[in-house]
Amino acid sequence: MEFYSSQISNLVEQLSRLPGIGSKTAQRLAFFILNMPEDQVAGLAGAMTSAKKNVRYCKQCCTYTDGDICPICANEKRNHRQIMVVENPRDLAAYEKTGKFEGVYHVLHGAISPMAGIGPSDIRLSELMVRLQGDVDEVIVATNKNLEGDTTATYISKLVKPIGIKVSRIASGVPSGGDIEYIDEVTLYKALEGRTDM
Ligand code: ZN
Repeated sequence: MEFYSSQISNLVEQLSRLPGIGSKTAQRLAFFILNMPEDQVAGLAGAMTSAKKNVRYCKQCCTYTDGDICPICANEKRNHRQIMVVENPRDLAAYEKTGKFEGVYHVLHGAISPMAGIGPSDIRLSELMVRLQGDVDEVIVATNKNLEGDTTATYISKLVKPIGIKVSRIASGVPSGGDIEYIDEVTLYKALEGRTDM
């Protein structure tokens, strides 16, 4: 992008590293930012650096939080004996939006994918197994309904069932291959309600 001065080129290049942002969108965003009031730009940059610096994994469920424990794990009204396993914090948010799930979560930060070289030790499975040493009645596996999500569900089931804890899988109301985060609340609730034992 030699037609832009180096500072603008740099901004465009940084923005184009974000997922889903192609070169054209990056240029549009760069010029949008240049036209923003200076305090708003400082607010945007500050939010990014501050979140990156302070946000970490919840010590219980591994979702992102800025304290030791996330608000859901800290909530005594939730059913801590029921753990829903999801692939990422966006899936957790999708299920929270239904407002129907009273249990707690466990965020894997990925799914097992032999094709991509992602094995069980690359996701937050050992943290889940540690939690299951406490009082837990049921593990609901709500990984995506695709090859990786199903592989992960089967793996979890094989690990958890021998301990004597019930393992269930969300129902097929979730379309095959569909990402949980893009599914509407009613469908998600139905998938949860209709879950089946593994
Ligand atoms: Zn938590």
